[in-house]
This record gives sequence, C-alpha cells and structure tokens, in this order.
Amino acid sequence: RTVFVNGEYLPETDAKISIFDRGFLMADGVYEVTSVLGGKLIDFDGHLKRLERSLNELDMEKPSEFDDLLEIHRKLVELNGIEEGMIYLQVTRGAPGDRDFVFPDPAETRPTLVLFTQNKPGLADSPAAQKGIKVISIEDIRWGRRDIKTVQLLYPSMGKMMAKKAGCDDAWLVEEGKVTEGTSNNAYIVKDGKIITRALSNDILHGITRAAVLRFAREAQMEVVERSFTIEEAQQADEAFVTSASTFVMPVVEIDGAEIGEGAVGPVAKRLREIYLDESLKAAV
Ligand code: PLP
Repeated sequence: RTVFVNGEYLPETDAKISIFDRGFLMADGVYEVTSVLGGKLIDFDGHLKRLERSLNELDMEKPSEFDDLLEIHRKLVELNGIEEGMIYLQVTRGAPGDRDFVFPDPAETRPTLVLFTQNKPGLADSPAAQKGIKVISIEDIRWGRRDIKTVQLLYPSMGKMMAKKAGCDDAWLVEEGKVTEGTSNNAYIVKDGKIITRALSNDILHGITRAAVLRFAREAQMEVVERSFTIEEAQQADEAFVTSASTFVMPVVEIDGAEIGEGAVGPVAKRLREIYLDESLKAAV
C-alpha cells in the first residue's frame, strides 16, 4: 500500500514519523475519515471544512499541503486502486526536539500530515445494515470538547471493547441521563415519524454524515427534532440508528438488551440509508 507522509508518497513500510511527534506523545492531533464509493470521495468538502475548524480550535497550523488535499486523496485512491473503502487523514502539531506540554513555536515545527487508505469491498452493501446492530449504554466520561475531532480515542476504544464483551456491536454514551452520541457515530431515534437527535454543541462531534442525513430528511419532508433523549426513551422508540462517514446510516435494533420496535431494521432508517447513499454518490468527487 502507498501512504502519504509529509509531502511524500511512500510504501507503507518506508513511512517514518519521529518518536517526538506530539500526536504520538500527547494525542495532540486531529483526523478525518472520508469514505470512497465507486472510486470517489463522499462528502469531501464537509470533511475538509471540519478539519480546518478542528485545527483552528486547537491553534494548530495548517499543513502546507492543505490546499492540495483533494488531489492527494484522489491520488492515493488511484495508486491503491480503491473502489470502496476509506481514507484516513491525520494532522499533528509536529515533532519538536523535546517533550514539552507547551505548544512549540510554529516557526520551528511543521505539522505532521499522514494519509492512508483502507480497502473495504462491500462497504455500501454491508450485511450489518441489513440486520442492524446492537448497542449497550455506558457513561460518557470523555473531555468537554468532543466537537474537535482529536486522535484521543482511548475511551471510545474502551467503549467498543465493553460492547464486544457484552456480545454487542457498539456503545452509546450517556451524560447526565441523556445520550450524547455513539463511540464513533451520531445517535438517533425515530418516534411517530419524527427523527430525533441531540442538538449540536461541544458535547458531540458535528458529524458530516449527520449534516447530510438531516438535510436529506428535511428535503424528503420528514420531521427532524434536534433534542436530547434518554436510553429509556430510545428503548421505547419505533426505530434507532447511527450515522458516520464509514457506516453511513446504520440501524440499531437493540439497546441494553431491549429490542427497538420490531427488533428489525425499520423503514425510516432503511429509507435514509438509501437516500444518503444515492445523493452522496451523485455529489461524490
Ligand atoms: N461522533 C463521533 C464521536 C465520531 O467519532 C464520529 C466519526 O468518527 C461521528 C460522530 C460521526 O461523524 P462523521 O459523520 O463526520 O463521520
């Protein structure tokens, strides 16, 4: 596989990052994941805008290749022959000489930029989307700036492990009795035809897929309500689902052991997945 590291396309085995990189030492970095369908990039503009926002919020310099990112994504897709899969992009604050909590002077350190692809044939036709997934709920003990897409993913990883141990697929995070989001996705319920999802704030990641799905839902005259909900409300909903760049719209059929609706994929999640795949493929670049 060919990867991109600081201006160079290299075989993955030749790629090198300093051990002093602040991404490695301090999780001082941000990332984006963009899906590839039919060899094209899904929602690329949204991911690029959010990357810029994450960098700004952390006072991190833009990598010098920022304006060429579309071209770099396309070239990696081509070099690695990706038809369906994803591109991972990471920017860290770079590798100053010593470990220090204080941010290095941007004049002396350049950000580290890394991109790589992951081939995922069958991504759009995923069997999980036919069956739906099962989630558990766990307490949300993450930091207070979840709107910034940082590489600090230890708690989400622990959450996925707790789900796995419980025989489930993922976890929904709960703070002050209300669902914030999934470990790596935004969370929704459907009740009496209304699509309910937590409003944007620093408590959740502003999902690029969320923005697109809510726009398509409103365009299709579906009612969207942006408010918080409890696990109990979710268990009594007609449907539940999550969204993310790598899973699109993924139905949730069980929460903490309770079946949602009929315990099978519901019509709203099914329709939203179809609309999202159709529309975002049409707009892919
Ligand atoms: N929430 C969290 C915590 C995430 O990690 C992600 C994606 O990785 C999302 C939501 C969904 O965001 P997007 O639709 O931009 O992939």
